[in-house]
Amino acid sequence: MVNPSSISLVIHCACGQKYGCKVAPRHDGKMNGSIACPACKRDGTDEANRQLAATLSVPVKISCACGQPYAFEIIPQNGRMPATVTCPACKRDGTAESNRQLAEILRLPVPVKIFCACGQKYAFEIVPRDGRMPASIACPVCQRDGTAEANDIIAKSFEPQAAPPQSVSVLLNTVQASVAPHLVDALKNAVVQELASQRRELLAAQQTATAELTELARRLEAVQTPLLERLNAYENRVQELEKELGEQSKENRELLKMKINMLREQIETERGANRLNFN
Ligand SMILES: [Zn+2]
Ligand SMILES: [Zn+2]
Ligand SMILES: [Zn+2]
Repeated sequence: MVNPSSISLVIHCACGQKYGCKVAPRHDGKMNGSIACPACKRDGTDEANRQLAATLSVPVKISCACGQPYAFEIIPQNGRMPATVTCPACKRDGTAESNRQLAEILRLPVPVKIFCACGQKYAFEIVPRDGRMPASIACPVCQRDGTAEANDIIAKSFEPQAAPPQSVSVLLNTVQASVAPHLVDALKNAVVQELASQRRELLAAQQTATAELTELARRLEAVQTPLLERLNAYENRVQELEKELGEQSKENRELLKMKINMLREQIETERGANRLNFN
């Protein structure tokens, strides 16, 4: 797990200069201020934000009760989802399950306070396992088992907190966690212009695209495909999608474009990571 209060980044400036910086990102995972190359003064904030997003984002994988799996990466805020998330197929809310996974990955303790039937109150903090107590707990006075109550409290702690309807900016942060900056701009325009239902569709389309890319990356990873072959696999998928793009209706075109953009981004990321490895 990354300590978000101090993250070391190395920026490779276009002028050839490499420089390091230690940053404490804002609660939304972005740079708190801007940075510039010490040699040419070129702004490095965008690149730093990209690196922060890659460092801080946490993968979430949901198997919806309807049978639809979906996955995305998110920068948690205070260890929780910054916005609600819904299944792209049935629109069932997946926020509680997402919060449970985030808590598990980040190993966040949940405060539990139990009022025992004997009148005794007792409180503790616990890092849940699979969203439940890792062991049973009993009242310190009467020894009555409090595990079921503790499990209820833990489950409730993952529920999305009652909040006003999700704002456009919150939704954009959600999307931003896993897509390329130019795509976020495109989405921003689209989201501002469209109605709430359509925003949901965009998010669902983005989740579908993320799920597909995640699956492709996982398959390539599983067989330890060398970098060049991985890049080829991505490029091939881009070409297939571009071919489909010519033949599709308008709605499908948006999803295909999104997938293509995400694949391009993945190619850039892997190329970039490779450069770092060899430097
Ligand atoms: Zn420079
Ligand atoms: Zn579903
Ligand atoms: Zn008791």
